Amino acid sequence: MQSFTYTGQPSRIVFGSGTVGTVGDEVSRLGGNRVLLLAGPRLESLAAVLTAQLGSRVAARFDGAAMHTPLDVTTRAMEMAEAADIDCVVAIGGGSATGLSKALAVRGGYDQIIVPTTYAGSEVTPVLGETVDGVKTTRNSPAILPETVIYDVDLTLDLPAAITLTSSINALAHAVEALYSAQRNPVTDLMALEAVTSITRALPLVMADLRDAEARSALLRAAWLAGTCLGSVGMGLHHKLCHTLGGSFGLPHARTHTVVLPHAMAYNTPAAHDVMERIAEAMGVPDAASGVYDLVARLGGPISLAELGFDAESIPRASELATAKPYPNPRPVTPAGIRELLTAATAGHHPVPGP
Ligand code: NAD
Repeated sequence: MQSFTYTGQPSRIVFGSGTVGTVGDEVSRLGGNRVLLLAGPRLESLAAVLTAQLGSRVAARFDGAAMHTPLDVTTRAMEMAEAADIDCVVAIGGGSATGLSKALAVRGGYDQIIVPTTYAGSEVTPVLGETVDGVKTTRNSPAILPETVIYDVDLTLDLPAAITLTSSINALAHAVEALYSAQRNPVTDLMALEAVTSITRALPLVMADLRDAEARSALLRAAWLAGTCLGSVGMGLHHKLCHTLGGSFGLPHARTHTVVLPHAMAYNTPAAHDVMERIAEAMGVPDAASGVYDLVARLGGPISLAELGFDAESIPRASELATAKPYPNPRPVTPAGIRELLTAATAGHHPVPGP
């Protein structure tokens, strides 16, 4: 018998095509009158659409969200929020815009409406990662969870191929680690397996035709499901490593997830055979870790940390940081094991399941 605890996260989800047109109604639903509009990097044109829709309810606009939520950016945006006396944040963009929105909400108690344009999944989690002096720390609080998420598949049709691929693998990583999480439960298992199946089927279709709206909607739905898993259960080795590589070595979030995932899966395979078999079955491949590596390689994604600018000389320090504090993971995390994993990931070798 499997014992478990499950807590549902109270978000309102609006999903479809053209749903960005409902932002104004959703602001009213929350009783918002003075909106701070946040836009992710290079998404000023999408922010302009919302400015036109919300009209005089836009009290201020901040376009400077950055990856890994650096504290100095949050401080500047918070000054703007306070000066404009806002009561609500509307954020459009990927995880960077969502992260900034959460950082403001936890400080100012503002309601949040997130319009995601990538598959990062942060919009449905009560988790905030912030970077101060090169160290990324995370906190978890109900005040961080956005009230409303508006998924509009139309906004994802122009997502470039490279980001589409790496952001989808970022979502896949949430699903994979949820399946072997210490807090796994029947609800997250269902969502995670559905996300694995959908991403594996839809991603090659989207990469062949970036404007395939049906396949795009399957990816976006999977990103929501995988993000919901991330918000419900603890993650393991893979997320810990990516967190270290992003926060302390400045590596790009989604691309790092893409390179590390098959290696983290290979590392955990000896201690989670049953889960890896379910993932392999959902993917329609003989081995889950190899299946992810081959999918990424076939679709032209990054396969080595070296190509992301990570230097092999940093492996000992990264291993030290990633193993400094114990955390639940199917296979015990040892400095030697992590050094080996990072050596293979840095070189881009095909993952070899551990003993
Ligand atoms: P991002 O928000 O920085 O976006 C990546 C790039 O995609 C940007 O250059 C952006 O301009 C571009 N982009 C986004 N949408 C686009 C669109 N529709 N068309 C064209 N270009 C578009 O990165 P991300 O990968 O979405 O998110 C990464 C951040 O999110 C990191 O800071 C990570 O730590 C955080 N994150 C947090 C959680 C959580 O639960 N706390 C979960 C996942 C990610």
